[in-house]
Amino acid sequence: MTMESGGALAAEEEANDKEPAARAAVARPSREEAERAVEVLIRWAGDDPGREGLLNTPERVVKAYEGFFEGYHQDPVALLERTFEETDGYDEVVALRNIRFESHCEHHIVPIIGRAHVAYLPDKRVIGISKLARVVEAYAKRLQIQEKLTTQIANTINDVLRPKGVAVVIEAAHQCMTTRGVHKPGVSMVTSRMLGRFRSDPSTRREFLALIGSDAAAGGHWES
Ligand SMILES: [Zn+2]
Repeated sequence: MTMESGGALAAEEEANDKEPAARAAVARPSREEAERAVEVLIRWAGDDPGREGLLNTPERVVKAYEGFFEGYHQDPVALLERTFEETDGYDEVVALRNIRFESHCEHHIVPIIGRAHVAYLPDKRVIGISKLARVVEAYAKRLQIQEKLTTQIANTINDVLRPKGVAVVIEAAHQCMTTRGVHKPGVSMVTSRMLGRFRSDPSTRREFLALIGSDAAAGGHWES
């Protein structure tokens, strides 16, 4: 089941440029302080952080957070700066599909698990294909909403690589919907962002949607 197809288009004006400055203004707590905060949440849940099974949990949670949120220490722009120009004139769509990612919703800090499909239409320069997946990771491993994740991936590739077009489609399940709140398992959210030729040329867009073979994409609507 699909909902909010094309939601990224509505959210496209939400630039992500504000974020680094906002983050820099927030002082990072010590590991000790972070572990104490987890203890407080365990007590809030109704359990005793002093019992045997929970003794090392604050330490483990803080360590897990380092993995969940390592994207804050990665620079997606730097990932894309190394490009290759020896392509023998290759000028067709380059697409990487089914990039699995795990993120966390910024409203509840519970997992968002999904797949991203990323494509660009090169303008003389190409990038190492794994870099597309690493850009997805760098933005996914932060506190996110899916619309912003979609926009950040597309805009960064567009701004750094300067291709003729960029397309990003993300399909994801939000555990804040499946395990709490409205409890709707099986629902996935689809967002997309089309830039350049993928936005202006319906045949390029169709080619991308056919390449990713997405059911969601087939039912989606994209403005030209
Ligand atoms: Zn949520």
